[in-house]
Amino acid sequence: MNHNPLSEDWDALWLDCRLATMAGAEPYGIIEDAALAVKDGRIAWIGAASDLPAGAEDRAGTVRRLRNAWITPGLIDCHTHLVYAGNRAREFEMRLNGATYEEIARSGGGILSTVKAVRAASEEELLVQSLPRLQALQSEGVTTVEIKSGYGLDTASELKMLRVAQRLGRKNPVTVHATFLGAHALPPEFKDRSDAYIDLVIEEMLPAVTSENLAGAVDVFCENIAFSVTQTERVFKAARKIGMPVKLHAEQLSDQKGALLAARYDALSVDHVEYIQEDGVNALAEKGVVAVLLPGAFYFLHETQKPPVEKFRQAGVPMALATDCNPGTSPCTSPLLMMNMACVLFGLTPAEALAGFTRNAARALNIHADHGSLVVGRAADLAVWDIDAPADLAYRLGSNPCRTVVKAGEVIFDR
Ligand SMILES: [Zn+2]
Repeated sequence: MNHNPLSEDWDALWLDCRLATMAGAEPYGIIEDAALAVKDGRIAWIGAASDLPAGAEDRAGTVRRLRNAWITPGLIDCHTHLVYAGNRAREFEMRLNGATYEEIARSGGGILSTVKAVRAASEEELLVQSLPRLQALQSEGVTTVEIKSGYGLDTASELKMLRVAQRLGRKNPVTVHATFLGAHALPPEFKDRSDAYIDLVIEEMLPAVTSENLAGAVDVFCENIAFSVTQTERVFKAARKIGMPVKLHAEQLSDQKGALLAARYDALSVDHVEYIQEDGVNALAEKGVVAVLLPGAFYFLHETQKPPVEKFRQAGVPMALATDCNPGTSPCTSPLLMMNMACVLFGLTPAEALAGFTRNAARALNIHADHGSLVVGRAADLAVWDIDAPADLAYRLGSNPCRTVVKAGEVIFDR
């Protein structure tokens, strides 16, 4: 039998392209005049086209020529709340027409209006309302997304949210990582009884989530308007007991020292972190915890305290970016807009911004051994862009140059 092990089994070969592999020492890991081959959903060959084995084109199942387009890893949105019902545009409008927070709250606005809408929605309705947000992310190159619960705030509704997140992943060519965020806000029926609510989260919700295998991580909103460090630690202890990794909404509005706690519990990431201090930065660096920056919420809330990007750089803390897609503070489904805002508002370089949605976002979800960079053997999750250079992705405002999206080797979107 005539057997050539080099190339005859490739399912697809991509030619006439340039690669930002996001691997190696150089910021983008660029390969010009490149070729990339895929087999069984994985990257089988990568390099300069001139190094391809002879006859490679004849032996690949399909050959696609990209007319010099750029390929990056598929984008990873590592922090979203995209499963929700209703929307808060009316509240946004009221505020800009001069209504006070009190008036908005009296007319049923704020996070509790989302909680009410989520509780009232059927699983099917929640799915139908959330799907366009996921599809919008996919059309900008997203192949993996994290989705949190946290608008149900009772056991049945939290489980409903997580089931919808799981179903979105099964119905669409995108990998969903669901996170249980029961400790997101205090539901009205627990007013002035936040410890009792944490009891419910630990004793009833978490075991129910685990028994249905609905989430891969546990998150808490640690803040003076949400839950204390002591309450957060109770949730973290319960998560550790069942071997569930943790992450934390920390230091968004004040320095609660949540990052120190999260580092002690080997958190995957601490998110927001505008108010983190030097002790927190050092703790993240020591444990290799990812700092997830969320410029959408910063912008929407007119925040002025920026995350300490230079301190993160100096300490070697990996920085990820995410849309934080949510109805209250970041109604956003555009990773590219977030890259631009991270550069303009926080001073990230365009290469750091792209790393924030690829390599470092993969670390924040603990999938970096298989995702977030273009390396032989890893998942063939790709985004193809009509751009002149990788910096275009962070530079452009409000346009979408994504031409093609590939999930596990399959073209799922082609413009
Ligand atoms: Zn969030």
